[in-house]
Amino acid sequence: MQVVVATTNPGKYRELVEGLSPLEWELRPLIDFPLKMPAESGTTFEDNALMKAAFVTQKTLLPALADDSGLMVDALGGEPGVYSARYGSRSSDRERNVYLLERLRGVPPEERSARFVAVLTLAYPDGHVESYRGEVEGVILEAPRGSGGFGYDPLFYLPEAGKTFAEMAPEEKAQYSHRARALAALLEAWKNGPPPREIWPLE
Ligand code: IMP
Repeated sequence: MQVVVATTNPGKYRELVEGLSPLEWELRPLIDFPLKMPAESGTTFEDNALMKAAFVTQKTLLPALADDSGLMVDALGGEPGVYSARYGSRSSDRERNVYLLERLRGVPPEERSARFVAVLTLAYPDGHVESYRGEVEGVILEAPRGSGGFGYDPLFYLPEAGKTFAEMAPEEKAQYSHRARALAALLEAWKNGPPPREIWPLE
């Protein structure tokens, strides 16, 4: 089956393509289609993932898989959350990391807990949708470490691995990440082919 990977983020795209490799899907990047993605106006990861996947499947008439994800920092009441990609109106990953560190200035290590969340939504042209969620708990460091990954990876320290996501090779990040956990749920659901669709009984 052909599936459009409905993301413009190269970091997400790489991780999704790698994670979906066990499935015999023919993955199509968004750049194959002349689409301007809609603004992400939802207030939850689920809303935004559905909005992106539904838009792309309607325009391309192919199944589309969208990822909506972000970082939730406890000391900031869950910020940046769904605003992770445009936090503080900063325009690059580096500037958003600097902004996050400013917001957390003076917060001691034991209060710097955070989680990454990813929601993957697969939408079909006939309106059927499936969603999978993954989360990972970590700590926001006081300075970046590592040069791999993307986004907030250099600040996100995983105590069980003793490293930030940016200090991990892609295969190692794929053992722990929120996106990898959402992908694992998708692969589990798809282990015997397309999962059964829920049918609502008619009265
Ligand atoms: P969106 O899902 O397009 O709204 O953007 C998600 C944003 O969350 C990205 O632009 C990153 O800033 C951040 N993010 C999501 N997943 C990751 C990750 O695996 N590592 C680092 N940052 C991430």
